[in-house]
Amino acid sequence: METIGFIGLGRMGAAMARNLLAAGFRVRAWNRTPGKTPQGAIECASPREAAGQSELVITMVADDAAAEQVTLGENGVIAGLPKGGMHAAMSTISVALSRKLQEAHRAAGQRYVSAPVFGRPEAAEKKQLWIVYGGAPADLDACRPAFAAMSQGVYPVGAPPQAHLAKLIGNFLILGLLEAVGEATALAEKGGLDPRELMAIFGKNSFGSPIFNGYAPRIAATEFEPAGFALPLGLKDATLALQAGAELRVPLPLASLTRDHLLAALARGRESWDWSGLASVVREAAGLPPRRA
Ligand code: NAP
Repeated sequence: METIGFIGLGRMGAAMARNLLAAGFRVRAWNRTPGKTPQGAIECASPREAAGQSELVITMVADDAAAEQVTLGENGVIAGLPKGGMHAAMSTISVALSRKLQEAHRAAGQRYVSAPVFGRPEAAEKKQLWIVYGGAPADLDACRPAFAAMSQGVYPVGAPPQAHLAKLIGNFLILGLLEAVGEATALAEKGGLDPRELMAIFGKNSFGSPIFNGYAPRIAATEFEPAGFALPLGLKDATLALQAGAELRVPLPLASLTRDHLLAALARGRESWDWSGLASVVREAAGLPPRRA
């Protein structure tokens, strides 16, 4: 697959598209706000046009509404992709929408796989994303060169909606960590310990993991800006995890708690903060200022 359509050039998508170009793919790009096309890519007027001459189209837009629009809309991917062409949905979207897209592509004689990613924009920049893959093994073989240009590994987990469920479960785990570190650092600070030193100690010992070491120092230092993964998108994922839980009859009290903390942070106008900024609300409940002085 030499020509790739790329839809959505936000924090993640722009870095991923640049890596595809660096690996030698021809990229036909579209973004809702024009002018974000990376150098070397062809700027298209619609997702339909980007899909038109591509064997593979990648979507990396914000949420369900955007993914539905760029795929099923009048000038969307389905309208442009040739028969047998492939759509890899890499955004974090609901299980229900992933199912709907799978059915729509099947009806149009096209192939659909899901490939949501783990890793922040810095990881995307360095080709260090992790991909959870949902789809047929033969389709994965066809996507491998493109995935290799953007990531350090691919984990097949089943059918397309399963990969989106897996991604939501992963983000639910991260939300639990953000909440726990937020509460732990508030306790440390009020007890006269330096939360930054304490998190550094934990990070060097049994808690050490890329996720803990990525987030705990930021939360301890209350560095919630600039956002790598913005608070409104965090709220989206907490809500989607709760939706999946409701469908499958699995209560997720921790997801409910973190959803409310994200919502409380947004109610205070923290739209541009990183989702780790949910810890600001935990701090306020403890009588601390949202950020350290
Ligand atoms: P972002 O920087 O906010 O970019 C969002 C992209 O979606 C932009 O290209 C935006 O276009 C486009 N978009 C939004 N609404 C649209 C609509 N209605 N129609 C068409 N395009 C629309 O978000 P991001 O951080 O790159 O995240 C993209 C996806 O990756 C999300 O599903 C997110 O959950 C997932 N993800 C993010 C991270 C992370 O750390 N950031 C990690 C893993 C997965 P404009 O430029 O016109 O606004």
